[in-house]
Amino acid sequence: MVRIDLHAHTTASDGSLTPEELVRLAKQQGVTTLAVTDHDTIAGLSQAMAEGEQVGVDVIPGIEISCLYSDVELHILGYFINPDDPHLEPALARYRASREDRNPRIVQRLQELGCTLTYAEVKAAAGTATVGRPHIAQALVRRGYVSSVSEAFDRYLADDAPAYMPRLLPSPAEAIGLIRQIGGIPVLAHPVYASRLKEPFEQVCATLKGLGLLGIEAIYSSHNRQQTDRYRSISRNQGLLVTGGSDFHGEAKPNLLVGTGYGNLAVPAALLEPMKALAEARKEA
Ligand code: AMP
Ligand code: ZN
Ligand code: FE
Ligand code: FE
Repeated sequence: MVRIDLHAHTTASDGSLTPEELVRLAKQQGVTTLAVTDHDTIAGLSQAMAEGEQVGVDVIPGIEISCLYSDVELHILGYFINPDDPHLEPALARYRASREDRNPRIVQRLQELGCTLTYAEVKAAAGTATVGRPHIAQALVRRGYVSSVSEAFDRYLADDAPAYMPRLLPSPAEAIGLIRQIGGIPVLAHPVYASRLKEPFEQVCATLKGLGLLGIEAIYSSHNRQQTDRYRSISRNQGLLVTGGSDFHGEAKPNLLVGTGYGNLAVPAALLEPMKALAEARKEA
């Protein structure tokens, strides 16, 4: 089977593999098309695309932008974006600033909760990456306060846990609008997260579609068969594209592999045609 994967992270954000390592692993996994979708950054794209040319993996330039819908964080994927568009960098600079404002506050709260940890060590371990909660989680593991990243989220970092700090997030209109402005196709990532909203999902989709959303990531590592079918049928009913991806992060999400997710992820290559057609049509418009 031809395998594709339209959602993966690198060391440019909170993944543990470099862009080159990610692309090589995708190749080993039989992935023919890979979208690199780091959080609020395009810093890994040029290396990933160059490596893709070397080893024979089609790399789609992508991004994943966090936004706030009502009081729930949703993520919007952008595909076939133009990383050189001048509108992109000022927005990304704002998102970086909001993370840089939040991360030290999370660490301070952890200190108040008795965890000896400095923001300097989190930053140092993350290198040049966009620091995210997974980096803080890994620092807690290294310090021995928790035994895994997921325990760190459960006990401290999840948005209902004691060290959670909100950050200023763009609205869905801004996130979707930015992706469209830079030539991309905006897609709602891991729609199962939207189930935390009180509003019915169909209505959320209709609202996002009104703002310019073009697709839903119906096929996702942690979706079961029923969820996948449901999101597929909602996408069809609303005239939205269906996409799919693993959300591979490397060590930050153990047991989750690029291409195959938790083992039975299968993203059909046939999904690419309508995406590419739409991207082309938007370029010409
Ligand atoms: P941030 O962008 O700093 O808010 O961090 C969000 C990142 O944390 C996303 O990449 C998620 O995949 C990851 N994340 C959120 N919740 C969990 C969890 N319970 N376990 C592991 N990773 C998580
Ligand atoms: Zn992530
Ligand atoms: Fe996400
Ligand atoms: Fe992601």
